[in-house]
Amino acid sequence: VDVKNRLIELLNASLGQTATLRKSDSQAIYFCPKCNHYKKKLEISIDINQSSFGKYHCWICDLRGKSLDTLFSKLNLNKTYLHQIHELLGIRFSNLIHTFKEPTLSLPLNFKSLFIKNDSIEYKHIIHYLKIRNVGLIDICRYNIGYCNSGEFINFVIIPSYDKFGKLNYFSARNIYDGFIKYRNAESSKDIIGFESFINFSEPITIVEGVFDAIAVRNNAIPLFGTELQNTLKQTLITTRPPKINIMLDNTALNSAIKIADTLLNFNLNVHLIHLPKKDPSEMGFEAVYKMLKSSKKLDFKTLIQYKLIT
Ligand SMILES: [Zn+2]
Repeated sequence: VDVKNRLIELLNASLGQTATLRKSDSQAIYFCPKCNHYKKKLEISIDINQSSFGKYHCWICDLRGKSLDTLFSKLNLNKTYLHQIHELLGIRFSNLIHTFKEPTLSLPLNFKSLFIKNDSIEYKHIIHYLKIRNVGLIDICRYNIGYCNSGEFINFVIIPSYDKFGKLNYFSARNIYDGFIKYRNAESSKDIIGFESFINFSEPITIVEGVFDAIAVRNNAIPLFGTELQNTLKQTLITTRPPKINIMLDNTALNSAIKIADTLLNFNLNVHLIHLPKKDPSEMGFEAVYKMLKSSKKLDFKTLIQYKLIT
């Protein structure tokens, strides 16, 4: 086990952020959840070979202490991670061989559901942005869409994805303003089934790129969080054999769509390749998307070859 990397992963998970490492990786720097200063000012000593290990200090609000235990209590962080850190360090010192579970994914610190009305400017701007993208209150409730009014996810719409047991398996965050980083997704594996908690594999499935596309399709739509068909989804489609699989990627991702279609067709699945106009599903809106899905035709190898020729 790489103790240092594992430790950083656990700290990242507990703080809902990614550390910046400094002083030859002996310090992890974070945004301070206490004062929410816009720069990373909370320093944590992470060199396990030094007596300073676990010391922390925020240069803005002077939050400080000598151990991770007090950091976790002061910031009210999820203690599960602290236990895992103790376990990790204990194991390092006794040199036992042990396998670890993946760190538990969590939503960004200060995540708030948009379902709870709020008078803040951030709330109003996010609701306005969603309205423009045809995402309404029903979708907000259904997907537990949220936001943060402080920290590194400020001005991001956060859309969680849950697995079939209702456990968070990914989240996607989209900045509502142009000119900034557009997406800041979970830093965990994309090899999950997006929106799995809503998916019924015995019904027709629609594969789309992003969460907003999936919301626009409404029924049984799986976002890829990109344009690649990940292994878990591929295996699930092969074993469950849904009656129909629509592949509906953006016009600019036709190559990827053809690649996915090719893969699934080779397993003799009922594939429909939806060739979209310039717009993506979320821009087209539900009615137009529905029409395209309904009028789509089953893909065969001959048509697939024709598609390959035009790209
Ligand atoms: Zn602070």
